[in-house]
Amino acid sequence: MNLILFGPPGAGKGTQASRLKERFGLAHIATGDMLRAAVEAESELGKRAKAIMERGELVPDELMIALIAERIEEPDCRSGFILDGFPRTIPQAEALEELLARKGLRLTAVIALEVPDEVLSARIERRVQESGGARSDDTPETLRRRIAVYHQQTAPLLDYYRRKGLLYTVDGTRSIDEVERAVAAILEGLHR
Ligand code: AMP
Repeated sequence: MNLILFGPPGAGKGTQASRLKERFGLAHIATGDMLRAAVEAESELGKRAKAIMERGELVPDELMIALIAERIEEPDCRSGFILDGFPRTIPQAEALEELLARKGLRLTAVIALEVPDEVLSARIERRVQESGGARSDDTPETLRRRIAVYHQQTAPLLDYYRRKGLLYTVDGTRSIDEVERAVAAILEGLHR
């Protein structure tokens, strides 16, 4: 299974991806985590990404596509993977399809966690308080920008994948366990 876990910032993609990783034995590819590690390591990528991430904007497509191209070559991806935070633009989605096709692979499903903006803001505000601002992009201003960027640049992917017949939606306002059960039911249905 090669999955995309899709949704706005704060929808719970990371939490659900960790659960799915355990449940289905998939590699979890979280581009935000990879970028934060690059920033921490002060690599070339990290230096280019840092200010962009702090503004809540998107790192350029060519950098992200190169990062993913390398990551899906890792051996742990052979048994399938969950993309968490990628693709975030149409060009990224097109590049992903090409990368997979070259390996003789394709996407199994795109699972979109649906959460209204008001709920996202409340969740992230809580995360900021709880983490004491551990993530430098967890500020109210950056959050507002990230949600706007999501609507402008990332949400169009919903239609893109719907047209390909790959899109499944889940109510992301429910509890973590309920969302996990809903996602698992979709995936088990696909396997039958
Ligand atoms: P995340 O942890 O997925 O919310 O990502 C944190 C930040 O990393 C985002 O706000 C973007 O600045 C950057 N980022 C992560 N994934 C991507 C991507 N696929 N394309 C562009 N920027 C990304």
